[in-house]
Amino acid sequence: MNRSDSEEMAGRLLAVGCEEASTFESADLVVINTCAIREGAEQKVIGRQGHLARLKVANPGMRIVMTGCAVREAERDGLRRRFPAVDLFLRPDEEPELVDRLGLASAQGAIGSLGAIGTTTTVGRTLVGAADNLSGTRARAIGEGTVARGSAISAWLPIIYGCDKTCTYCIVPFSRGPERSRPFDDIVEEARTLALAGYREVTLLGQNVNSYGHDLAPEPRFAHVDAERWAGRRLDLQGRPDLAELIRAIDALRTADGRPAIPRLRFVTSHPWDLSDRLIAALADCPSVCEHLHLPVQSGDDAVLRRMGRQYTIEHYRERLDRIRAAVPGITVSTDVIVGFCGETEAQFERTLQLLEDVRYDQVFAAAYSPRPGTPATKLVDDVPPHVKRRRLNQLLAVQERIGLERNEAWIGREIDVLVDAVAPPRTHDHDAPDRADGPRVTGRTRGNKLVHLAGDRRLVGHEVRVRIDHAGPYALRGSPVTEQPPIPR
Ligand code: SAM
Ligand code: SF4
Repeated sequence: MNRSDSEEMAGRLLAVGCEEASTFESADLVVINTCAIREGAEQKVIGRQGHLARLKVANPGMRIVMTGCAVREAERDGLRRRFPAVDLFLRPDEEPELVDRLGLASAQGAIGSLGAIGTTTTVGRTLVGAADNLSGTRARAIGEGTVARGSAISAWLPIIYGCDKTCTYCIVPFSRGPERSRPFDDIVEEARTLALAGYREVTLLGQNVNSYGHDLAPEPRFAHVDAERWAGRRLDLQGRPDLAELIRAIDALRTADGRPAIPRLRFVTSHPWDLSDRLIAALADCPSVCEHLHLPVQSGDDAVLRRMGRQYTIEHYRERLDRIRAAVPGITVSTDVIVGFCGETEAQFERTLQLLEDVRYDQVFAAAYSPRPGTPATKLVDDVPPHVKRRRLNQLLAVQERIGLERNEAWIGREIDVLVDAVAPPRTHDHDAPDRADGPRVTGRTRGNKLVHLAGDRRLVGHEVRVRIDHAGPYALRGSPVTEQPPIPR
């Protein structure tokens, strides 16, 4: 989400005549897009402040903007005191105002002192108080082509902003506010524009994409969306579009010869409570939807899930997973886990390990619980000592490393389609990566979101290539193209 926000801010600045700076030293404007999901992420920003303050001494005309989730209303005065080098603080919902607040809106000629910009894509999104206002600014940015997309192959497409969940550990509802869905037709139109521009992959974005549409006005054309069949039975979607409708509409965008105009459609993040049968049916029916689901579980223990305010039980989570695996055979699954949450006992942690063994995820993003100021969990006792959190995290990562390796090894000797998206960097320390002596290498992703390293040069970038897998590591696969170049035409 923050990368998407950064692309939009950079686009707005470029549209009023700024140019991208190659270094911080040469920049007249630096925009820092912050993450606050864990303390470590905020510390990164603090570390960068010293550097920026020094740059500002060398270049007193430099202006520094801080935005993203670290900029919360309650924190604004404290931030001003802590970061005197920063000229402007913008909450994520104020990001569309960036250009106006810098006085650049109608002032192409006034850019002299702001000719170069440096954006740091650490991590932040563009929300505005009212949904109408939001869709207006967003639609304008897109209509004017002012989203500076970082890739010509894969695009982010925000569909819902904010979060209405109340996970007790999480700062997102405080930093990004309540849920606001973008209008259905705007999203489909943006997807169509992306397809025409040659994008091969689009990822629908939201903190909880599964609740898309609940805040939109009912319309006769969505009268068939039936609230009774909504698995979580919390959101009244009757007559409103949902994620299933949206996916079907984007999948229906076709090339002249009937292929999906966007061959790879993804969506992230799904909340297990709101994963509806309607959505599962859409995933099974739509050929463009990639066979991959990111379904954060957070803990394998019901009591911990209750304290986390996650709304579901492990039984519900497993039932959803079983259903989706039955509907979409071979689907890969990834998850998020927090270890060492308040009151987590050794036995409760063991249940998370057991869940990993049972589900056999393809990928797990795990972190130790990090108390966030102002969140409900700060009223609970953060009683798992740091060394125990660290040990549990390492233990969990080791279990997943074994499972990930086993799952990846099953691909050895098989062929798979890889969308090549990058030339591999000249040197890498990744033990899954191939030996550089073999010649030029590129990297890409399978539809199941597995990272693949393969022999080839930049001509493959942007193409889907059939690859025979000959090596597997816990985090990536390695192989060679089956067909000689030229690759499958775009
Ligand atoms: N909305 C998504 C969800 O429900 O999973 C993503 C939310 S958050 C941006 C991404 C992940 O950060 C969460 O799934 C959770 O595992 C982790 N996270 C959030 N708050 C945390 C905290 N206080 N300490 C450690 N990890 C945290
Ligand atoms: Fe945070 Fe929970 Fe919302 Fe995800 S669903 S952003 S974890 S509050």
